[in-house]
Amino acid sequence: MGNAQQIESLAVSHLTTAKALYQPSYIFNEHSVAALKSRVIDALSVLSQRFETLEKPFSGITPQHMAKKFADVDLSQPQWTFTAALDELKELYLKDAVYFHNPNYMAHLNCPIVYPAIVAELILSAVNSSLDTWDQSAGATLIEQRLLDWTSECIRFGEAADGVFTSGGTQSNLMAMLIARDEFCRRKLNHDVKTNGLPSEFTKFKIFVSEASHFSLQKSAAILGLGYESIVSVPTDEHYRMNVAQLKAAIDNAREAGEIPVAVIATAGTTDFGSIDPLHEISKVAHREALWMHVDAAYGGGLLISNQYRDRIDGIELADSVTIDFHKTFFQPVSCGAFFVKNKKHLSCVTHHADYLNPLSQSQEGTPNLVNKSIQTTRRFDALKLWMSLRTIGAEQLGQYFDQVIELAQKVECAVRNDLEIEVLNKPELSAIVFRFLSANKQNLCTINQEIRKQLFKDGQAIIAGTKVKGESYLKITLLNPEASLEQVLVVFERIKRLGRQLSHQYNQQNQS
Ligand SMILES: *Cc1c(COP(=O)(O)O)cnc(C)c1O
Repeated sequence: MGNAQQIESLAVSHLTTAKALYQPSYIFNEHSVAALKSRVIDALSVLSQRFETLEKPFSGITPQHMAKKFADVDLSQPQWTFTAALDELKELYLKDAVYFHNPNYMAHLNCPIVYPAIVAELILSAVNSSLDTWDQSAGATLIEQRLLDWTSECIRFGEAADGVFTSGGTQSNLMAMLIARDEFCRRKLNHDVKTNGLPSEFTKFKIFVSEASHFSLQKSAAILGLGYESIVSVPTDEHYRMNVAQLKAAIDNAREAGEIPVAVIATAGTTDFGSIDPLHEISKVAHREALWMHVDAAYGGGLLISNQYRDRIDGIELADSVTIDFHKTFFQPVSCGAFFVKNKKHLSCVTHHADYLNPLSQSQEGTPNLVNKSIQTTRRFDALKLWMSLRTIGAEQLGQYFDQVIELAQKVECAVRNDLEIEVLNKPELSAIVFRFLSANKQNLCTINQEIRKQLFKDGQAIIAGTKVKGESYLKITLLNPEASLEQVLVVFERIKRLGRQLSHQYNQQNQS
């Protein structure tokens, strides 16, 4: 009896069994690898259609309008074929996604990505290694470890350094503050937080950060039980870098008030300005005051492989720990970040030996279980993306991409600096420029600038960001596309000015009437 006949006869008697036989199995293995290949080709052709017809980074659709499209989706009722599901996705996602590779996307720290990393995503998902233990990852563990060692070398952190891949800067910063807190308690208070929880003095702990630092530091303080109040925000100088005199004063004040300084966090590349805190000077203060020093280089980390501007991040090696986001300035897909410590022993803060997973005996035998260094258990093999990028393209080329956007930002700043309608706040050290539209009439500037950003977003032609500096609204561009040109960026500035003029005209008329 042939297969088809067999099925048919079964179908008569056992309808459900027949259905199971007719249905292809979607479990990925040697039988479905051909099916996967053809679906990937389908998906790529859908993507290429989308990319080839893309005229702007965003359609401008409103969340309300978009929500309507989702109202009809019944998740209990599948589309039954991949092709139909893909078709639906075109409408629900690809049509109105925000595309970071478009040079007119210049809002946040989202980079265009290198395509070997996209292929790596396919491979790492297909094999589906989990980087918690050697027995779930094998070679993947060594790939991650080699990248950690390589990055530690780029930091010039020395022989004792180590690290771990994280979901990004937020998780890396959380780890830094966790280790800083626990290490302080161990060293100064002879108190083991891992076993006993927070010591009674914890309400007096203070962590010093610049006022331009990332909000994940506040969030981490809250998560760690120290609260927002433990964060001391140190004013910045005219270049938006932490003012070291003010840092010293803030530490002195805290000590006088009976508070307990624990750590100082420098930012190498603030999210708004790309400014780099004076790392050498901060390290001197941290050393003298016996404080943990963390450097948040989520944005500035790309300088580690820069051919032109490596010196801008010199001093990072003086830190006790460092945050690096490969998904920002190493042109990697989200998520891809890592956390580093100068002395690997500190990572034991997050070690817990579970009999079923990573017993102490395995560590003693020399089995590398990365879970011993991570706050996650099951963990993606994100390292493979960076690995394939470095093995295909090389660090020099990635560094070159970052150099190009830094140069572009310098050129843009030069080009708009003397424009009477544009006020530029910072001379970019990395690739972010904070500015605003100025009109002769100084009224309504905040509203006008907020409105400029909203109108650009609604139109979708160019996406820029907004921020507040000393209570006033500003606009911001973060240039991360090495293929963007000065001309393209200046066209966006022309649009900004045109919108600004229209809006200030409107407001003037409203005021008169
Ligand atoms: C982006 C950023 C973070 C947060 O990183 P995520 O990867 O988004 O979690 C932290 N610090 C700085 C300075 C950043 O720019």
